Amino acid sequence: MEFELWYLLSLPLLFTVGWIARGFESSVRETDNAALPRSYFRGLNLLLNDQPDKAIDAFIEVVKLDPETIELHQALGNLFRRRGEFDRAVRIHTHLLNRADLPARQRSQALDELGQDYLKAGLLDRAEDAFVRLLQDRHHRFDALRALLRIYQIEREWLKAVDSARQLESEAGESHHVAISHYYCELANDALMRDALDDAQQAVDAALSANRSSVRALILAGDIAAKRGAFDEALGHWRRVEDASAEHLPLIATRVADAMFAQGQTEQALDWLKRAMVAMPSIDLLDVVAKRTTAWRGAAAAEAVIAEETQRHPSLLGFERLLEARLAINRENGKEDVELQLLNSLLSNHTQKLARYRCAKCGFRAREYHWNCPGCSTWDSYPPRRLEELDIA
Ligand SMILES: [Zn+2]
Repeated sequence: MEFELWYLLSLPLLFTVGWIARGFESSVRETDNAALPRSYFRGLNLLLNDQPDKAIDAFIEVVKLDPETIELHQALGNLFRRRGEFDRAVRIHTHLLNRADLPARQRSQALDELGQDYLKAGLLDRAEDAFVRLLQDRHHRFDALRALLRIYQIEREWLKAVDSARQLESEAGESHHVAISHYYCELANDALMRDALDDAQQAVDAALSANRSSVRALILAGDIAAKRGAFDEALGHWRRVEDASAEHLPLIATRVADAMFAQGQTEQALDWLKRAMVAMPSIDLLDVVAKRTTAWRGAAAAEAVIAEETQRHPSLLGFERLLEARLAINRENGKEDVELQLLNSLLSNHTQKLARYRCAKCGFRAREYHWNCPGCSTWDSYPPRRLEELDIA
């Protein structure tokens, strides 16, 4: 609390120093003009007495009396925003914008700050309005485009996001091809959900033309083909994922196995899964192998595969799968092993934490695999590996 108060006080103190310095510099200024207006002291006093709203009114009076305090005013608004007091920040910046005599440059600056206030407060429509207005100002255009890109991404307005990203690429020389490809993948995903396969295909083609090696776009291209019943074509797309990035094998394993199974190639599907697991040992692959082997060949066959793999690559998550398989065999045989059940539940409690995915950029942990980090909004920042494997590697 004390710290916050001093933090808040730092600005008025700077304000005072600036004011006095200005008074010394201007020798022509009359003595009474050089003095601080009463409103300033009232504002400072109110701030000290923890009455920030009344203090803001007093400081607004100061700006009316002396337009040269605009920058300090901006700083006060920004300080409120950083403290999370968005309504106060908005009041200060709105007041500045409403001043008829505000120079163009400072008007744009105030509009930028107001947009940031709204963005931080989650009032995205108002933030968008502010930044769209700023696009006309060449000094603020790129910042406005970047802010709009952020807003459109939060609002899932993917086509608008593509538009802003392309403008930043052509005008500011920035590279956004990975993000643009993902925006199209989001569109393809939405279209796929509503069975609009032509729309989905169009979006995937656009995603691949933005980024030819996009794993996500290749996976989606396969999904669209599989939904059409064109399993060979689907397998073709997914094999390109296998060739381009073996790391992403766990993301296509279920798809590949099911497409083969749908064509009556159960043995080939199980072979492919085993080969994939040898090429790219991973908990997620082991899961797919365990589930599909259980479904197609029974619990005993699954247990044998898991036992072999846990010997090769011991991990707690793998061992948990092994216990589950043994319990399933017991259930099939009408046997009950209370100790094994207890051990399995103890192990599950412990492995829950190890089963998360982790963003390589900010460390944000998630149960589900994400293409876009919920913590830092980076694309492709999640390795498709569980925490336990990441920490061993
Ligand atoms: Zn992150």
